Amino acid sequence: MDSLPLLADHPYASFLDQVEKPARYAGGEVGSVVKDWASVEARVCLAFPDVYDIGMSHLGFKILYKLLNDDPRTLAERCYTPWIDMEAQLVKRGLPLVSLESARPLRDFDVVGFSLQFELTYSNILTMLHLGGIPLRAADRGEDDPIVIAGGPTATHPEPIAPFLDALVIGDGEEKATEVALLWARLKREGVPRRERLVAIARLGAVYVPSLYATRVDPDTGFEVVDRPLASGIPFPIERALVDLNRYPFPDESPTGGPEAIFDRMSIEIARGCTEGCRFCQAGMIYRPVRERDPEQIVDTVMRAVQRSGQDEVSLTALSTADVSCISPLIKKVTERLTAERISLGVSSLRAYGLEPDLLDELKRVRATGLTFAPEAGSQRMRDVVNKNVTEEQLLETAERVFSRGWGKMKLYFMIGLPTETDEDVRGIVETGARAAGAGRRAAGKGKPVDVTVSVSTHVPKPHTPFQWAAMDTLAEVGRKQQMLKDTVRPYRAVTLKTHEANASVLEGIFARGDRPLADVLERAWRHGARFDSWEDQLDLAVWEEAFTHVGVDRAKYLGTLPVTARLPWDHIDVGLEEGFLAKEYRKALQSRLSPPCGKVAGTFVHHTNLDDARADTRRLVCYDCGVACDMTQMREERLTFLDRLGAHRRSLPVLTDAGAAPPAGAAGPSAAPANDGGAERESDGGAGRESVAATAPESGDDREPSRAAGEAPQRARRIAPAPKGRGGFRYRFRFEKAGPMALLGHLDVVRELPRVLRRVGAPMTYTAGFHPKPDMTFSPALSLGVISLDEYVDLRLERDLDPAALDALVAAMSAASPRGLVFSGAVKLGPEDPSLSKLIAGARYALAFARSAIGGDAEALLAARCSAALSAASLPIRREIDRLAKMVDVRQYLVRAEVGGPEVHSALARAGLVGDLVALEVEVDIRGSGAVKSSEVAAVITGEPGEAPGAITPPPHRAVRLQLFGRTSPAGSAAGERFSLFDLERARRVKPAPERTPALPLAADAE
Ligand code: SF4
Repeated sequence: MDSLPLLADHPYASFLDQVEKPARYAGGEVGSVVKDWASVEARVCLAFPDVYDIGMSHLGFKILYKLLNDDPRTLAERCYTPWIDMEAQLVKRGLPLVSLESARPLRDFDVVGFSLQFELTYSNILTMLHLGGIPLRAADRGEDDPIVIAGGPTATHPEPIAPFLDALVIGDGEEKATEVALLWARLKREGVPRRERLVAIARLGAVYVPSLYATRVDPDTGFEVVDRPLASGIPFPIERALVDLNRYPFPDESPTGGPEAIFDRMSIEIARGCTEGCRFCQAGMIYRPVRERDPEQIVDTVMRAVQRSGQDEVSLTALSTADVSCISPLIKKVTERLTAERISLGVSSLRAYGLEPDLLDELKRVRATGLTFAPEAGSQRMRDVVNKNVTEEQLLETAERVFSRGWGKMKLYFMIGLPTETDEDVRGIVETGARAAGAGRRAAGKGKPVDVTVSVSTHVPKPHTPFQWAAMDTLAEVGRKQQMLKDTVRPYRAVTLKTHEANASVLEGIFARGDRPLADVLERAWRHGARFDSWEDQLDLAVWEEAFTHVGVDRAKYLGTLPVTARLPWDHIDVGLEEGFLAKEYRKALQSRLSPPCGKVAGTFVHHTNLDDARADTRRLVCYDCGVACDMTQMREERLTFLDRLGAHRRSLPVLTDAGAAPPAGAAGPSAAPANDGGAERESDGGAGRESVAATAPESGDDREPSRAAGEAPQRARRIAPAPKGRGGFRYRFRFEKAGPMALLGHLDVVRELPRVLRRVGAPMTYTAGFHPKPDMTFSPALSLGVISLDEYVDLRLERDLDPAALDALVAAMSAASPRGLVFSGAVKLGPEDPSLSKLIAGARYALAFARSAIGGDAEALLAARCSAALSAASLPIRREIDRLAKMVDVRQYLVRAEVGGPEVHSALARAGLVGDLVALEVEVDIRGSGAVKSSEVAAVITGEPGEAPGAITPPPHRAVRLQLFGRTSPAGSAAGERFSLFDLERARRVKPAPERTPALPLAADAE
C-alpha cells in the first residue's frame, strides 16, 4: 500500500517517495512558471529525452522556456525522461507521463517539442511518447493528438527518428518555436485537417515534415534517401533558420534547484558558432557563422541571472570560449562584478594557446584540482588532419606553466579512429601525454607530484562535417588500438590512461549516418527494453543486436567509407554550407593540410584584446567562402565596438590579482582591460561525436560528456573570491518548515538551496575561512526523504547587523524567494556565546500518521496498546542498513514517549498537508551526541507485527512529520529535564552544553 500523499493534488503523490530522487518529478522550483492553461492560445511541452539531472542544465531548453512563457499567447512546461524506476511505477499503475508545472499528460498539449542532442537518446523519446499517451509513429496520430516536433543538432540528420516525429525545426529555434505553436493551435481550433496543418507548418520554412517527402533507395550506397516533396510550396532542400542572437538576449531566469543537476551553475551562452573549423566537429559546421552576443548584454544578463537564481557559480559558454573575440576583457568585466557578490566564474577546458603567465597566476588561486586541454590527436600530422590549430610546443609550454604554478594534475583529451590514423599516431597520444608530464616534472621541481591524464574516446563520423564520408573504426580495431595505448603507457608512471567503452560509440555512429529503415530497429530495441542508451550502465547491447538482426539491417553499411559523390540520407537538410566545401576540407584532411581559423588574421591564434591593437591591425581576416557569407567588414567593426563597450582600449594593463585590486564597476576605462590574450576559458568542442550542442543554441558541454554511469560532475577550475579571515559577520538562528515538494528533496539539496535563497533576497552570508570557503551555516539533524518538518533550524552568519523588524522582513522575503514547500517562520539573533544547534538539540517530537484503514479495527485502542507495550519493553532492536552495511539499533534507548495523538497533532498534520481519515501517534525521541533514531524505525518497532525478526519489521504505510526540535534543561543529553524551544535563548544559555557533536551529525543519514 502507498504512503499518504505528500502533494495532495499530484497524480504521482502516493508513491513519489518510493522512487529515486522523487523531486525530479515534483516541480515547484524557483523560476518555474505555471501559467493559466485557459489564458493562452498555444500550449507547449518541452520534452528532454534524458533524466532531469542532465536536462536541467540545457541551454536551449532555458531559452525556449523563457521565450514561450514571456509571450502572453503561449505557455511552456517541462518534462524529462522518467528514470527506470519511475517508468516501472507508471506502467504498473497505468498512469501517464505528466509535465512538471501543471502535471498534465503530454497528450494534452498542442505541441510536444523534443530536444535532439544526441542519437543515443532516441529510445527515450519513444518512452516519453508512449507514457505521454501519444501514438509512437506520426502516421498513427489522430486529429486531436499534439504535433510532435524536435530541434537541435541531431535534427540536421534525423532520418532514423523521422517516422516518430511530425516535424523538425532546422537551425536556430528562437523564432520558429512560437510561430509553429501558434499556427498549429490556430489551425486546429479552426478544424483544419491534420495533414493540411502539417503542410502549413512545412511552408513556414526551416521546418522539415518527414511525411511530406518521398524517399528512394540510392543505388550507389543502398541508403534510403529523401527524394522529393509530396506537397506543393514546401521547401526542398530544407534550409536552416538563422537568428540574430542580440534580438534574443540569453534568459536571465530559468528553473533552478530541485535535486542536484549535473552542471549546477548558471551557464550563459556568449556566442554561437565557431571560427576554428575542426573537421570532426558538427557543431562547428552547422552553427556557422560565429555570432557573438553583445558583451554589455552578457554582463547585465549574468548579474540579473545570479540575483534571480541565487546560484554561486557562473559559466560563460561557447563552442570555443577562448576564441570569442572579446573574451579576455569580458571575463575581466564579469569578474569585477561577481567578486563583490562572492560568485565564482567557471573555467573549463582551456586552450593550449594564449594561456599567458599572468592569466595562470590569476587562475592559481582557484580551487582547481587540475586543468583540461583537448589536443585531440597525438601527432602534429594528425592534428593537421583534424584541423586542430594547436602545436605540441604550445602544449608543452602550457604544461610547464601549469605545473610550475603548483598544479599537480592536467587532463588531455584525444580521439582514436580518425581518418588516416596510423599506429604511430595512436602511440603518439600516450607519448604526447608523457612529454607533457616530462615538461611538467621539470617545471614543478624535484619531488613535486605530476599527473597527466590522457583520456581517449572513439571518433564518430558525423553528418555535415568533412569527415561524414570517413569510415568508423570497427569494434575490433578500436579494441586493438586501445590495447596499443595500454601497452604504450606502461613505462610512463606519470601518465594515467583512460579509454572509453566503444560499443555505445558504434551505435551512435550507425544512427548518426542512418536512414529511415533504422526506425524499425529503434522501435524493436525499445520494445525489448532499450532505455538510456548513453548511460554506460544502462546500454543493453544484446537488445540492439537482436533488433538489427530481426529487422535485417546490415550495420556495416553505415560504418564504412561512403562515396563522396553519393546522395546521403541527410542531404535534403541544408545547413548553409556551399556545395563542395565539406568535400574540399575532406580532401585537405587526407593530404594533412590545415585550414587556419576563419574570421582571424592568417597565422594568429588569438584575437586582439584591446582597441588600440585591433584598430592598428588592418590585415585581412581569413575566409574560405564556406557558403554562409559572412560580412567581414561588419565582423571587424562589431569586434571594435565590443572592445570599446568593455572599456578595453589599451594594451599591457594590469591583471586583477585580488578582490581589493578590482576597480569599481563602471570605472572601467583603460584600467579594466587585462594584459593577457584570450585563453581564459575554453569549452570542449566535442569530438567522438560529443559535440556540445543544444536544441537551438550550441551548449558547450563543459568538458566532455560527463560519465553518466558515475554521474560525476566535470572537473573544472573555478575562480572564486578570496575568503575573509576568521568568522566575521553576525549570527542568526532561522526556523523553517519543509513540506510538499521540499520534503522530497534530500538534505544536501536543502543545504544547497539556502544560500541561494539568501542571495536572491540580497542578504549576503559570511563564508568559512580557508582555501575552499563555504557559507557558514549549521543545520538541524537531517531528515529522511519524504519526512515533513514543521520545525527545522539553521544557524548562520550574515554580513549585516539586523534589528528585530529587519529580521522579520528578511524572514518574509526569504519565504517569498523559496521553492514551493520551503517556508521560513522566524529568526533570532544569536550572541557570540550562544550555544550552537549541535550543542543544544536534545530531542524531537514526531507525528506518525496512518490511514485508519491501514490499521483496522479500533485503531486508537490498538495503537495505544502497542505504545504501552513498546514503552514497557526492555529493548526494541531493529536492523539499520546504510550503504549495504547493517547494524542493530535499540530504539528503546531513544524512545521517551509514545501515545495516540490528540487534536494538536491532527491540526499539525493538516498544516503539513496530510488530510483524510487519519489516526496518529505522537512520539518523542532523544537525540544524543552518540546518535539518534529515525521516525520510520520508531514506527516499525511500535506498529510492526509482534514477533517479527528485527531485520524484517515493516510498519504499515505512514507519513512522518517532525513537530518539534527542542533542547532540555539539565542534565544535558538525557531524557530528564524540561523541554525548551531553540529560540529560548535565555534558557539555552543556562544549560550546560552537551558535548559538541561531530560535524557530520547534521548531514548524517541516521541523524533524524
Ligand atoms: S563565410 Fe568565411 S568567415 Fe564566414 S564562416 Fe564561412 S569561412 Fe568563416
